[in-house]
Amino acid sequence: MNRRDLVRSAALGTILLTGSTSNARSGNRHRVKNIIFLVSDGMSTGTLAMADLLRQRKEGRSSNWLRLYREGRAQRALMDTASASSLVTDSAAASSAWGGGVRVPNGSLNVDADGQAHRPIWQTFKAAGKAVGCVTTVPITHATPAGFCVNSKSRGSMADIAEHYLGLRFDVMMGAGTEQFNPGKRPDGKDLFKAFNEQGYQVAQTRDTMLSFRPGKPALGVFDSDSLPFALDRATSPALQQIIPSLAEMTHTAVELMRGNADGFVLQVEGGKVDWAAHTNDLAALLYDQLAFDDAVGEAIRFAEQNRETLLIITTDHGNANPGLLYGANANHNFDQIQTYRQTNDWILTGVTKDTTPTQLIERIEAAQGLVIKPDDARSLLLHYTALDETGIYNPRKLPFRQLAALQTPHTAVGWAGMDHTADFVELAIVNPGHSPSSASAGLPALINNTDLHTFMLQATGVHQD
Ligand SMILES: [Zn+2]
Repeated sequence: MNRRDLVRSAALGTILLTGSTSNARSGNRHRVKNIIFLVSDGMSTGTLAMADLLRQRKEGRSSNWLRLYREGRAQRALMDTASASSLVTDSAAASSAWGGGVRVPNGSLNVDADGQAHRPIWQTFKAAGKAVGCVTTVPITHATPAGFCVNSKSRGSMADIAEHYLGLRFDVMMGAGTEQFNPGKRPDGKDLFKAFNEQGYQVAQTRDTMLSFRPGKPALGVFDSDSLPFALDRATSPALQQIIPSLAEMTHTAVELMRGNADGFVLQVEGGKVDWAAHTNDLAALLYDQLAFDDAVGEAIRFAEQNRETLLIITTDHGNANPGLLYGANANHNFDQIQTYRQTNDWILTGVTKDTTPTQLIERIEAAQGLVIKPDDARSLLLHYTALDETGIYNPRKLPFRQLAALQTPHTAVGWAGMDHTADFVELAIVNPGHSPSSASAGLPALINNTDLHTFMLQATGVHQD
């Protein structure tokens, strides 16, 4: 650690330590017992702003995240998200910066450019006696949860990562990715559901089973192959709501399972599909998944306010696609159309086949989002399907997401800068309801590096790396 880093880390350390005058007087450094780390993956600032505007105009209330700002209850900073290999990070390197405290090349999980492994922070907290967990809407073996849990040269080794989780015996792991646990889908044919069960885990593959989880045993929940459905598609389908939990429900369950641990708990909550929606310029998917993430933020705030020993870190790992509501005479009216959407572009395009007619596609888009496209545009979208091979339909990047988004932009007034991650400095909120925000905010630098959060979490809890 160089001198500048030392100064920065000392400043970070004061954020939580100066809040209570009684603690200061008695000389006791205040520590938090629990951390809930909430990450909306791939959330550009425009995503945060538009989700808040949508919630205000549709529901007459602020988003939970921005209400913290409106009421002066959070400390804010910008965060530089670069990785070791690029100004533009991927989620593996970004999570590793927080998880291992060191910038690693894109694609790597806590293994640096020299091949050296850095201990993931959830392993450190587990060794210190805390209960540890991760919940996400993407595979539980995906980059963001994995960056807090494991070392791996490749984020793509998800079958290995699932097996690594078994050995770690963490307390709550929930999300998607059944294919990493199912013997019929794993390359080695191992039945990891059975293996977790034999290790004493409660195992759920449906929401109902998750709701029957009780404290006292570790818990594994894997509710879908690949990823969980987008929040808007789930909201429109009673059948999906029955079997798939929301991110807020998983967050609530995880907290209930771990809150009784004498030495506290740490939980990562990831809105993983905000990033996926940005990659496909899928506006309905993006904003409603951001709101589902915001519901999880609300759940965490409720718990922290009542518990008073819990630190919330609310952020994103990088921007993605930089969406924004653009100037125009009808901006308000156009933006308000999103309130009536019933389905995502993902739902529209994955339900189309080579046999779909232009009329059927026009009706499908109208039923999903109220937009009536021209027959020529429908024919043009359908051209993509004649070029697909049998497996292409399952690869979203091959579907005409960009073209559909371009057709929608004049009607929604929302434009996109691209379809990939950005180098933007991102929003970071720190909330500690046990302290007054004004006194607690004094030590927070206005611009931090992603790696600083690693030190910050250790200092906040008084846990040492070794
Ligand atoms: Zn991404």
